Amino acid sequence: MAEEQPLSKVVNDAARVIAGSNYVVALVGAGISVESGIPPFRGPGGLWTKHGEPPMDGYQRFLADPATWWAERLADSDSLSGLLQATESRKPNPAHHALAEMERTGLLQHVITQNIDNLHQEAGSRAVTEIHGNRLKLRCIACGACFAVEEFRVDEIPPRCPHCRGIVKTDIVMFGEPIPADALQSCEYHTRLCDCMLLVGTSAVVYPAAEFPIIALQQGASLVEVNPMETPLSELCRATLRAPAGEALPLLVERLREMKNERREERREESDGER
Ligand SMILES: [Zn+2]
Repeated sequence: MAEEQPLSKVVNDAARVIAGSNYVVALVGAGISVESGIPPFRGPGGLWTKHGEPPMDGYQRFLADPATWWAERLADSDSLSGLLQATESRKPNPAHHALAEMERTGLLQHVITQNIDNLHQEAGSRAVTEIHGNRLKLRCIACGACFAVEEFRVDEIPPRCPHCRGIVKTDIVMFGEPIPADALQSCEYHTRLCDCMLLVGTSAVVYPAAEFPIIALQQGASLVEVNPMETPLSELCRATLRAPAGEALPLLVERLREMKNERREERREESDGER
């Protein structure tokens, strides 16, 4: 492993890679949400570590008897919003805001997230693909139409799609459930376009996210990593910010802003010189 470099030096390296790229895609994992107080599924303190992993065939069980699945979910609450997980009070953290700021200033073209917590959107990100769905949505398994949990009226169990009468489930991708085709296509599309992939709080070892950095590398894109822990991808990265995303990404955004101002200053001097 390379010797640890001071964060400011690596931030500068990362900012240069990003500023020199045309199409930057961020691949985001659970690490960013942990900083907002949302426990991860796996690892120490993880929900599944504590409560046991959900059945690996969760989707097949749902398909076999969606009415019972829904009846169980709705038994504890009088409305669908009871389904919303215990993440309701969570707020986006400085890392989410930094990514949204990068999008606004044209430095980030797309976010591919493995998280379901909607915190990117709450921070202001618009170009977001969610690999594992969104906890605030429901989805028709027949036509793929999505509905806001808050607005959906359950008139029957299992609930049916108002467009095609297909069975409706939560948008969150279950174990054994294929990643929705449109999400997968969007990830592949943006990965093909990118010349820089920013890996934030993900070790990218779980399919399908694991594929995207490899495809990006194969087409000559640079990888930049933000992760307090070393990952299998670390040594393939042009720059690695070994810090929590909430700390590293705001520094990166600040450095990018400085670089933009420096370039503006240089251009002004050049045009002054020409006069
Ligand atoms: Zn439908």
